Amino acid sequence: MNDDRNANSISRRAFASLAAGAASARLLSAQQASSPDAPNPDTSRQRRGTMSEGAPFEHPIVFHRNDVTAKVQAFPLSQVRITGSVYKAAEDWNRGYLNRLPEDRLLHNFRINAGLHSPAAPFGGWEEPACEVRGHFTGHYLSASALLYASTGDKDAKAKGDSLVSELAKCQEKLGGGYLSAFPREFWDRLDARKPVWAPFYTIHKIMAGMFDQYHLAGNRQALDVLEGMAGWADVWTKSKSDEHMQDILNTEYGGMNEVLYNLAAVTNNDRWAQVGDRFTKRHFFNPLALRRDELRGLHVNTHIPQVIGAARRYELSGDMRFHDVADYFWQEVVSARTYATGGTSNDEGWLVPPRQLAAELKRSAATAECCCGYNMLKLTRHLFTWTGDPRYFDYYERTLLNERIGTIHPGNGHTQYYLSLTPGVYKTFNTEDQSFWCCTGTGVEEYSKLGDSIYWQDGDGLYVNLFIPSELKWEERGLHVRQATNFPAEAGTTLTFTAETPVAMAVRIRVPGWADSGGSLKINGKTLEVLASPGSYVAIRRTWRSGDQIELSLPMRLHAEPMPDDERIQAFLYGPVVLAADLGSEGITSAMTEGENVPQMEHLPAISVPVAEFAAARTIAAHGDEPERHIPAQVIPTLRAAGADPNTWIQPDGGPLAFRTTGQEKDLALKPLHSLFEKRYTVYFQVS
Ligand SMILES: [Zn+2]
Repeated sequence: MNDDRNANSISRRAFASLAAGAASARLLSAQQASSPDAPNPDTSRQRRGTMSEGAPFEHPIVFHRNDVTAKVQAFPLSQVRITGSVYKAAEDWNRGYLNRLPEDRLLHNFRINAGLHSPAAPFGGWEEPACEVRGHFTGHYLSASALLYASTGDKDAKAKGDSLVSELAKCQEKLGGGYLSAFPREFWDRLDARKPVWAPFYTIHKIMAGMFDQYHLAGNRQALDVLEGMAGWADVWTKSKSDEHMQDILNTEYGGMNEVLYNLAAVTNNDRWAQVGDRFTKRHFFNPLALRRDELRGLHVNTHIPQVIGAARRYELSGDMRFHDVADYFWQEVVSARTYATGGTSNDEGWLVPPRQLAAELKRSAATAECCCGYNMLKLTRHLFTWTGDPRYFDYYERTLLNERIGTIHPGNGHTQYYLSLTPGVYKTFNTEDQSFWCCTGTGVEEYSKLGDSIYWQDGDGLYVNLFIPSELKWEERGLHVRQATNFPAEAGTTLTFTAETPVAMAVRIRVPGWADSGGSLKINGKTLEVLASPGSYVAIRRTWRSGDQIELSLPMRLHAEPMPDDERIQAFLYGPVVLAADLGSEGITSAMTEGENVPQMEHLPAISVPVAEFAAARTIAAHGDEPERHIPAQVIPTLRAAGADPNTWIQPDGGPLAFRTTGQEKDLALKPLHSLFEKRYTVYFQVS
């Protein structure tokens, strides 16, 4: 049991319940993180890092700016526009939600904390005036409106962002010019004294990141001034702590404080901010990662992913391989050993079991795959891709984006999920309009404001196309316009059309996904090319591009099964990158049940009318600290009889582009994309015999 385990033993929802009286209090308790499973295994021999022994982060950490040259770079959001399909719909739903949230309500707690007048009605949930992370969502909102402006040119988003920055600057001024928060300084005394307090630095990070994005993406100069004032306050507060005491303070969730301070150092060329960022290096978390050891079990997942994003940024600004190795190993381990078929990770917000024990983890609770984790893993993936240009990072990126992110925003109102549960027979739940404001509501409004950020990349040699999303790229520096037309994933391929002011000689590299089946083809201006790259690589086309040139790429998909690593009978089915789920109907769920609860309430649901097997026995988690005793109902799992090893022999197309149906079962099931199912019960995993 490591120290971190104790310090992070209460999940964010648990704090919400203590602070705001919500019903679903949870512990990431000792019972969940220990027996019956074995201790963390030694995985240090599996991959090679640059360090093999000792405690790399016990050596002094001294910042020297030495920028690492990126191998590939993403195009700025302002040069990319999304033009259709489920991605455009998600962008529009999210934009509607952002538009509906009134500015005065977003400012309310900040104004009250600064002693300014506010007649606005407070929000509820995690933004209610007594909640200890109040203000976090306003920080996310600043990021989201900056991202939305960069993504769409939406002038209303820009104006609202500018106004929020200006009003928040008034609050900062009233508070003395540095500190800016919606909660009082007394929280910091509690953090310093190691008395219970939710997550002050987590909340401050959201506001600082929001100010950074307003400056960096929306050109708001005042936001940089506000941010430097906040960073100055953070410098003074952290400098007064001994190194040992600061390490203890870091056991309380602090978001990506390191990342935003490194970002600030980068844009201001001021190493002071990186030195403050270095104080947020949690040594007992980073040391085993740098040595390539998985000691993640028992950790609160989304507390830690942002710290690794900070490590990635630290490597980019300094070339310090310790930080590189932390980010590289962490990503490999989480994706290969702790990630479900959807790309999601975590259960009950933690990693509860040893690596490669996902069936065991899935049985622990219905609170699977917190959405913030998917959001932050995608951010981390972008860094790693920048260093390597390895297209395989985008197999993970695409899968997570399609299933864990596009599948978790509600059509129409833009509300989003907290957990994408994978418990068999479950249904999706979403935030309310103004009474939730979970962490995932915050990362949600950011996610769907930046869906175009990873489609197109560049290097000195040319263009990379990583994602199949209908969109337009305006490559101003080269006088080149690229239009991508596709209805992917409903269409198994894409078409790129070029418009060039003058002919452009360069390479165009298009990702051939790891899931691509044989029989794909590539046409240039209608003529089939003989060469096609193997799955998991790029097909590179080097020529002089002229207006009207067109590339047509077909990417045949195939149906395949993904068994759980610790129980091969438990399987998910995918078509290409699309996770298929059995539609188990709507019986027992109402619209009201799908709104406001962050975890689906399984105990009140009727039995599902398909053959099932027992999956997990009912159990009780004993009372722990302030947490009451908790009952977890028994789980059953739909069963399928496989007529052969290849699922294509017994799962057949069913009339639509992504619709399938099992054959030869006692009761055959319709399989549909998980991202398309709403107000339905579903199962992603089956027991296959
Ligand atoms: Zn979250």
